[in-house]
Amino acid sequence: MRRLRNVKIVATLGPASSDKETIRALFEAGADVFRLNMSHGSHDEIRERHAIIREIERETGRPIGILADLQGPKLRCGTFARGEEELEEGQGFRLDLDPAEGDATRVCLPHEEIFAALEPGANLLVNDGKIRLKVERCGKDFADCTVIAGGTISNRKGVNVPDVVLPLAALSDKDRKDLDFVCALGVDWLALSFVQRVEDVEEARALAAGRAAILSKIEKPAAVKAYDAILAASDGIMVARGDLGVELPVQNVPPIQKRLVRGARMAAKPVIVATQMLESMIESPMPTRAEVSDVATAIYEGADAVMLSAESAAGDYPVEAVQTMNNVAIEVESDTTYREVIEASRSVARESVADAIVSAAREIAETTDIKAICCFTHSGTTATLVARERPRVPIIALTPLTGAARRLCLTWGTFCELTGEVERFKMAVVSAVRATRDRGFADETDMIVVTAGIPFNVPGSTNILRVAPCDERLIFKGEPE
Ligand code: PGA
Ligand code: MN
Repeated sequence: MRRLRNVKIVATLGPASSDKETIRALFEAGADVFRLNMSHGSHDEIRERHAIIREIERETGRPIGILADLQGPKLRCGTFARGEEELEEGQGFRLDLDPAEGDATRVCLPHEEIFAALEPGANLLVNDGKIRLKVERCGKDFADCTVIAGGTISNRKGVNVPDVVLPLAALSDKDRKDLDFVCALGVDWLALSFVQRVEDVEEARALAAGRAAILSKIEKPAAVKAYDAILAASDGIMVARGDLGVELPVQNVPPIQKRLVRGARMAAKPVIVATQMLESMIESPMPTRAEVSDVATAIYEGADAVMLSAESAAGDYPVEAVQTMNNVAIEVESDTTYREVIEASRSVARESVADAIVSAAREIAETTDIKAICCFTHSGTTATLVARERPRVPIIALTPLTGAARRLCLTWGTFCELTGEVERFKMAVVSAVRATRDRGFADETDMIVVTAGIPFNVPGSTNILRVAPCDERLIFKGEPE
């Protein structure tokens, strides 16, 4: 199960990918992390998918990351008697608080706070901005709109109100229930939607209480403004281009993507580029050239992971979509321009012993023919520091903690291997050599780099670097204890 690429693939599970056979096929095609989207699916469905992932993990012996994506204060319309309606440009359409099912003239928008904040002239965007409504008249429980851009509106589609600041809490009651539910199940990452302030991240972290790492989805103009603080408070970042491109003009998204990816990489925190990466593959086995180019661009930019949403959750070609990402990644990463770009964009302020050691490990990989950088890590932090260097050779993270191994599934270039607790340096080198050879990264005649922290049981103390031969007999003969 060795991947032949550095960038990771996140695949969202949904109705098109809820049985074991499909989830296993997605994993084999290259999915490293599965995303459980709490906006869709009941707790029973989520529990079932979670159990299947852990089963596949046991069967394959490979750690698999699970990311639970909380809905956040996402506004959604109600349902329609016929499931969907066609809205024509120029027609009138009413939004109100009446829970009755909608039709071609009205639908419920079950959010009092929107009506309280709306004013005539405001724009409402439905379904990722595909439908645009302009408010003509409004009151405390209705808004009469004109359809500016028409299209199909269907059950529970997302609604954005970019012109209006809404007084919304970061975590709804549903989010709090979902958070407790998924943390009890055991997930590795919690993604927070519509983060606006650093306090939103801190609140979720307090509720998660160490049970999951916190990933902030950047999809509001306020979050872009407060990015540095939000990044510092988070364990990872998602460039959530869907809502970002509705809340801001679409042409603002590419430069923001570049900034967010670069910032996260500098902070040694994984960053996912998400949404519409292979959108046409929801219905077609072949992506558009522009989509392939978009996936490639995210990889050239140095993103840790690329993500599939509806393509894998609700499309007709979920496995093909993962294969496509995998193929694009292999091609991009073997291009010499890729290395040039990645190396030119390496600008890191090194402050600690660990920073200096991982940078030395990367230089050794550039200077000599070592086959891998093996790092002993408890929390996973040292592995993310190595990954920040974007070295030429695979990173093998050795950790005794399953949670750390699963979280690192999101980190660029990192292959995780569980080890027992090691107490002596010689033991560490031997287990690194064994893991590297057993997994096919090197053979007897090769050399690797091993980093570790001595003493072994103190986290965050990487302070040693060894260039070691992969021949165990040489290690047993010459290795210091
Ligand atoms: P969503 O988040 O799919 O939960 O809306 C991703 C995005 O907005 O891009
Ligand atoms: Mn979103």
